[in-house]
Amino acid sequence: MTTATSPAVQDAAQRLATLRDSIDRAARLTQRTADDIRLIAVSKTHDADAIRPLIEAGQRAFGENRVQESQEKWPTLREEQADIELHLVGQLQSNKAAEAVALFDVIHGLDRPSLLTALAKAMDAAGKRLPCFIQVNIGAEEQKGGCAIADTPALIAAARDADIPLLGLMCVPPAEIEAAPFFALLAKMAREEGLPRLSMGMSGDYETAIMLGATDIRVGTALFGERPSPARPVPASGRGMLRNSRAK
Ligand SMILES: *Cc1c(COP(=O)(O)O)cnc(C)c1O
Repeated sequence: MTTATSPAVQDAAQRLATLRDSIDRAARLTQRTADDIRLIAVSKTHDADAIRPLIEAGQRAFGENRVQESQEKWPTLREEQADIELHLVGQLQSNKAAEAVALFDVIHGLDRPSLLTALAKAMDAAGKRLPCFIQVNIGAEEQKGGCAIADTPALIAAARDADIPLLGLMCVPPAEIEAAPFFALLAKMAREEGLPRLSMGMSGDYETAIMLGATDIRVGTALFGERPSPARPVPASGRGMLRNSRAK
């Protein structure tokens, strides 16, 4: 680096280095290398001023969960730094498919046939194919996005028919339960379908995810600090119901 580094950039570089160390440790423990693992910095709710230091510290892959918020932030940041790779990690409404295809490089939330149709149409219109992950509702949670486990093979087949480049499977396991079994299940499903990549692991569980085969980890809080408010609050009753149904 030739430019003078501000305290904000030094701080971002420090967080990045600490995170990379843990990624490296988890990878080596399981005979993998950190080079196989893509770190996606999830910058949702954080403004351009909070994101810039991380870009200056060398981070290039970023994740957002809302199309409109991304349209407000990223065109400017991309003018400043051309080789940004933008991942849509949240749920996508079918009527936003065209906007998503225009802005993002990778879609992690393909989870239903209607969205598949909308994305295929948007990709045809834009004359480009975006690599996608199919999101699986791995904990069978009612309130959560993702394709039901039983429906996933059919959705994978439909995506292949529609010529959508599939990278692999993605999941957000249930909160407040050990995540490892869900990561292992997602890895098994991907293996059975011959899909090479696994988008799994967030700030609280990325090391576990890596040890179970994650290739794309989505980390927000560990890089940016706490978000002002939860982007999508989980209702307390939802957790309770899940607990009860599992206990029986
Ligand atoms: C917010 C979010 C993340 C990042 O979560 P942290 O716990 O802040 O690391 C990862 N994946 C998805 C889908 C998210 O919405």
